Amino acid sequence: MKRDEKVFEVIQKERERQTNGIELIASENFVSDQVLEAMGSVMTNKYAEGYPGARYYGGCQNVDITENIAIDRAKELYGAEWVNIQPHSGAQANMAVLLACLQPGDTFMGLDLSHGGHLSHGSPVNSSGILYKPVGYMVDEKTGTVDYDAFEKLALETKPKLIICGASAYSRDWDYKRMREVADKIGAILMADISHPSGLIARGLLNDPMPYCHIVTTTTHKTLRGPRGGMILIGHDFDNPYGKVTKKGIIRKMSSLLDSAVFPGVQGGPLEHVIAAKAVALGEALSDDYKTYVEQVKKNAKVMCDEFIRKGYGVVSGGTDNHLMLIDLRKNFPLVTGKMVENTLVRADITVNKNMVPFDSRTPFQTSGLRIGTPAITTRGLKEADMPVIVDMIDNVISNIKPDGNQCTIDEDVIIETRKKVNAMMSPRPLFAW
Ligand SMILES: *Cc1c(COP(=O)(O)O)cnc(C)c1O
Repeated sequence: MKRDEKVFEVIQKERERQTNGIELIASENFVSDQVLEAMGSVMTNKYAEGYPGARYYGGCQNVDITENIAIDRAKELYGAEWVNIQPHSGAQANMAVLLACLQPGDTFMGLDLSHGGHLSHGSPVNSSGILYKPVGYMVDEKTGTVDYDAFEKLALETKPKLIICGASAYSRDWDYKRMREVADKIGAILMADISHPSGLIARGLLNDPMPYCHIVTTTTHKTLRGPRGGMILIGHDFDNPYGKVTKKGIIRKMSSLLDSAVFPGVQGGPLEHVIAAKAVALGEALSDDYKTYVEQVKKNAKVMCDEFIRKGYGVVSGGTDNHLMLIDLRKNFPLVTGKMVENTLVRADITVNKNMVPFDSRTPFQTSGLRIGTPAITTRGLKEADMPVIVDMIDNVISNIKPDGNQCTIDEDVIIETRKKVNAMMSPRPLFAW
């Protein structure tokens, strides 16, 4: 058959875009060649509904092996007792947990969307908000960090059956212990969605949710640096607040509910090519190189955040503990919106995303904030010394934006000059430098 140039030309263009630009979207990363190879393999041809050793189709002897390798490596990496590696995405992992733990109409709690939470934690346009009754807790307006006292009060008042900790745009660590104490007071299940800081948690750079949360979900493609996908985990220390069942018994019960919720609850056949790639990525994440990588991600984020603060930028919560920061433009650029900055920077080959800041007066389409993360540029091999250079370029672009209502203009020379510097910095670097 003739090669489909129409599609492969575009893929080549996308490779060039990724290679030449500075990627600061906090949820993105670059996978290794062997992760790509596994993902683009014949494993995609196989139907394997069910789980290793218990499939609805024949010929699963090979995919059983890769799926078991992925599960074993995930258990080792996170210190988990049980893992479901099949969710097609983070949102589907969360959907499966809610399906397993709640009845339609039940109340659950998650961090408010405009305060950093994720769509799948109760947005009215997501199944979590359509089928169940979400209650949103918030960050404190002054500190920009989760207000645990207000959280406790709200939990005791609304008695959710399940509480979600974790977020998409939150730069601080979580007090899982405190949240578990609150969950225990009302007999709620505590779930951590660690999609974003997953890799940092796995290698001990942030608090560990496994001892405190009954269930943990994560994506595999953010800091973890694997293929696009999700997984669900239960820790060794899962302990049962609901009655006279042994720890082993409750894990068995909970895990079988979760397995059924993933398949056939919300999915059909698993993506065995992606699962093979998950196995490869999890193997990488167990290596010394990966430990060095996540340490560098954290160092880069801290240096970059300090540099924005030094230049007078508002940063939600005043800093970062993890791989990302949330810039509040209202402090020194009150007329500039997140959307203007996102659209202008992309023309200079710098990608960030506009983001609501807590208590934002603008809509999610405009926003007053920017979310910036270091996982992708760290994979490209950038170090602490490169961070002030990047902040300078971003600051120069933002300072030259001339806002006019929701529109803006900028001197074209600023874009051309910046793009030149960006391309010179990045084009010689491989996508995956580790
Ligand atoms: C990214 C993210 C998800 C969803 O991941 P998808 O794979 O895009 O569905 C879920 N929860 C949180 C907290 C996230 O940041």
